[in-house]
Amino acid sequence: MKDCIFCKIVAGEIPTQFVYEDDQVVAFNDIQPAAPVHIILIPRIHIPSFDDIKPEHKGLMGHLAWVAGELARQKNISEKGYRLVMNCGPDGGQEVFHLHFHLLGGKPLASGYGRQ
Ligand code: AMP
Ligand code: ZN
Repeated sequence: MKDCIFCKIVAGEIPTQFVYEDDQVVAFNDIQPAAPVHIILIPRIHIPSFDDIKPEHKGLMGHLAWVAGELARQKNISEKGYRLVMNCGPDGGQEVFHLHFHLLGGKPLASGYGRQ
């Protein structure tokens, strides 16, 4: 997808070191980390947001979730715990419209999820 930052990362047009990659998924460190571990996990294909998941993406989404758990174990944050976040749409705080998980951990994270 033209003009999508994360598609450019997948295509190698924005040089980015992957912490994980396979035929369906890539993962890399967030450029503005909010925690000691802050990894972005994305599908290689362009799905704009959680709201765009179709039945044919079920396997891919399951795989993405499994990779997130694997990376948490590799980064040694699974015992103490971590947070997986997927922002959806403007009110959800999504800024990059290529579906992604944030994997956050390595410190106690504030409880709650945006209560005001
Ligand atoms: P969201 O607000 O959920 O759309 O999150 C987008 C995330 O992508 C933010 O945490 C950004 O810091 C991160 N990000 C944007 N551009 C890059 C990049 N080139 N490399 C790594 N992370 C990025
Ligand atoms: Zn994209």
